Amino acid sequence: MLGKIMELWFTENHTDEARFSIKVDKHLFSKQSEFQRIDVFESKEFGKILTLDGFLMVTEKDEFIYHDMITHVPMAVNPNISKVLVIGAGDGGTVRELLRYKTITHIDMVEIDKDVVTVCKEYLPLTACGLTDNKVHLYFEDGLKFVRGKVSEYDLIIVDSTDPFGPGEGLFTKEFYGNCYRALKEDGILVNQHESMYYTSYAESMKRAHQRIQDSFPVAKIYQAHIPTYPSGHWLFGFASKKYDPIQDLDSDKWNKLGLKTKYYNTDLHVGAFAIPNYVKEQLEER
Ligand code: SAM
Repeated sequence: MLGKIMELWFTENHTDEARFSIKVDKHLFSKQSEFQRIDVFESKEFGKILTLDGFLMVTEKDEFIYHDMITHVPMAVNPNISKVLVIGAGDGGTVRELLRYKTITHIDMVEIDKDVVTVCKEYLPLTACGLTDNKVHLYFEDGLKFVRGKVSEYDLIIVDSTDPFGPGEGLFTKEFYGNCYRALKEDGILVNQHESMYYTSYAESMKRAHQRIQDSFPVAKIYQAHIPTYPSGHWLFGFASKKYDPIQDLDSDKWNKLGLKTKYYNTDLHVGAFAIPNYVKEQLEER
């Protein structure tokens, strides 16, 4: 009798009591870099999957949701953005979306781990395709340090980082948000990936991160998206600005006239995304 062929699953612990698993066909790549363990898997349901230290970063099937929401929300509020700083984002999905705007002429991307970019160029061309564009200037260093010396340089800063521990920890600090404020022009916008507040594990640190952003910027809001492979599926983003309100200053007609085809983002959804659930509001309001 033939033995049962072993099935291979990628499993991430979302809490000590809850796990999320995806059946995978192949483990395509694994390496311990200077900063983290990098793995790439191939799956039928989600296509290729990038994980760092065992945490899922990107899947080919649902990356469009995250990258639409982290780029098109600020771009629809200020369609004249031309110089952008992207921190983290080694998979390239954020840069790919930004490059769709003709107004954007210069993107500085600061990724701490060169190996992530090398691996994504080889295994995830769907997201990494824009990383060789001549408008993109790649720096392999800590985003926390990079932003320290910058003054009134950028229209938009996007923080597309890992979680608030390990190499990404400094990107959730008061010092970092203050430096982002200084690095932005007078109508600058900061958008950051803001984790989920559904499970208690990250809720406290994200509440504190939001308060630090509120202390640094006159406008600080939270918006949401449904991302199936991230913990709880309910993901948050931060929108902070020196001037713009993300709803009152949304220029729907101007954005819609650009004719960009998007699979998740639209300007009605933009408005709805800022209507966050009470359990998130209540946690954010606690001081
Ligand atoms: N979409 C993803 C998510 O929310 O799970 C984030 C993806 S992207 C791969 C995150 C990147 O941030 C990683 O490649 C990591 O190396 C980079 N990163 C972490 N800390 C950083 C830092 N201090 N400076 C620059 N890049 C950093």
